[in-house]
Amino acid sequence: MSNQTKFILSEQDIPEKWYNITADMPNKPLPPLHPATHEPIGPDALAPLFPMGLIEQEVTSDAWVEIPEEVRDIYKVWRPTPLYRAHRLEKALDTPAKIYYKYEGVSPAGSHKPNTAVPQAYYNMKEGVTRITTETGAGQWGSALAFACNLFGIHCEVYMVRISYDQKPYRKLMMNTWGADVYPSPSDRTHAGRQILAQDAASPGSLGIAISEAVEIAATHDDTKYSLGSVLNHVLLHQTVIGQEALKQMEMAGDFPDIIIAPFGGGSNFAGISFPFLRHKLVEGKKLRAIAVEPTSCPKLTRGVFRYDFGDTVGMTPLLPMYTLGHTFIPAKIHAGGLRYHGAGVIVSQLLKDNIIEAVAVDQLETFEAGVLFAKTEGIIPAPEANYGIAQALREAQIAKEEGVAKTILFNLCGHGNFDMASYDAYFSGRLQKHEMTQQEIEAALALIDTPAIPA
Ligand SMILES: *Cc1c(COP(=O)(O)O)cnc(C)c1O
Repeated sequence: MSNQTKFILSEQDIPEKWYNITADMPNKPLPPLHPATHEPIGPDALAPLFPMGLIEQEVTSDAWVEIPEEVRDIYKVWRPTPLYRAHRLEKALDTPAKIYYKYEGVSPAGSHKPNTAVPQAYYNMKEGVTRITTETGAGQWGSALAFACNLFGIHCEVYMVRISYDQKPYRKLMMNTWGADVYPSPSDRTHAGRQILAQDAASPGSLGIAISEAVEIAATHDDTKYSLGSVLNHVLLHQTVIGQEALKQMEMAGDFPDIIIAPFGGGSNFAGISFPFLRHKLVEGKKLRAIAVEPTSCPKLTRGVFRYDFGDTVGMTPLLPMYTLGHTFIPAKIHAGGLRYHGAGVIVSQLLKDNIIEAVAVDQLETFEAGVLFAKTEGIIPAPEANYGIAQALREAQIAKEEGVAKTILFNLCGHGNFDMASYDAYFSGRLQKHEMTQQEIEAALALIDTPAIPA
């Protein structure tokens, strides 16, 4: 048994419910506030942007939410996903730690994102929506939503962060193949985009700006809704299929993780793998460390502040209580496009505030070094975002070696990097640099925040 490499479930093991961790949290997340009045908002305020089916999930306090049969049927295309024991990586590291990873790159879009894109498109279709707008950074989310919208006959319009649009032409073509229209953001199609371009015609864009554009189109058209690939409660909820499967697979392996690790952009893949395990920590007091890994160039969890902030750059979304570097913060042009976001999900922010989870920041050079070692030992070439989780797994494996303790480490390999070889090229040719924000830069970013503080 200890030599087993791959842990495979069958179709019946695809979860029938999503897990909502808020039901088990000691401190519930604070309510969102209206962007203008700063009063708590109810579900109705979200109705111009999202279908009711998703709004109900956004605010539910039920621990379990039924997955529609139509959605489970599509999940069967790539789920359950495999869980591996990284024997060769362990050997290369000469560590007593046991390293497992859950591989979400087997989905058609190559990442965990279709786990939420499919139900989001489904609930929109049920309510007669004919067009969905969204933003995308690295192109992972845009391609997942393009794939899902196509299955339900919905038109998909994607605002792609300029820097990634230029760096990743194949992601754009993938979206086009599934029938989506893709625009570089900031664009001249929206008031928000034109406003940014007027300040800086060469703006590299950011997820926050692209969100402003996509939200503006949805808010001003009756047949159009908006879809977000991370951060929101319903997105985190959908991703819990990852951890529920991994729980069963770890049981097959006869192990339970001491440490769970995932890269962190807005929190969805981190939530997806960790929440079903954290349930055992919250409900049964099981010992478990869950570590979110962010870039040193966008360190909202480790160096940001916990307060109300907008989800977008321009300030159109409700104010959310979260760890943030400020909604106008535009991160450096590092290659892990999916991690260039100023804020964090409300649920993960509250869990971090309450010390139920941990966060660390890692430099991009260390992450590529880790990703290349992983590719050489395990075969799969990871997405640049995924390399952040791998780098932290390597750090923990090294600590286990120094301490001589056979810890069990589980990380989420949230996507493959087959469309990201340009960033590997930049790494191999020495064009990637270490990048850490100075204390002065952090203070300057935080000084710009003018949104309400969170009452003590
Ligand atoms: C989108 C994305 C991320 C970051 O988003 P989360 O919501 O934090 O998961 C990380 N890795 C990959 C491969 C992604 O596509």
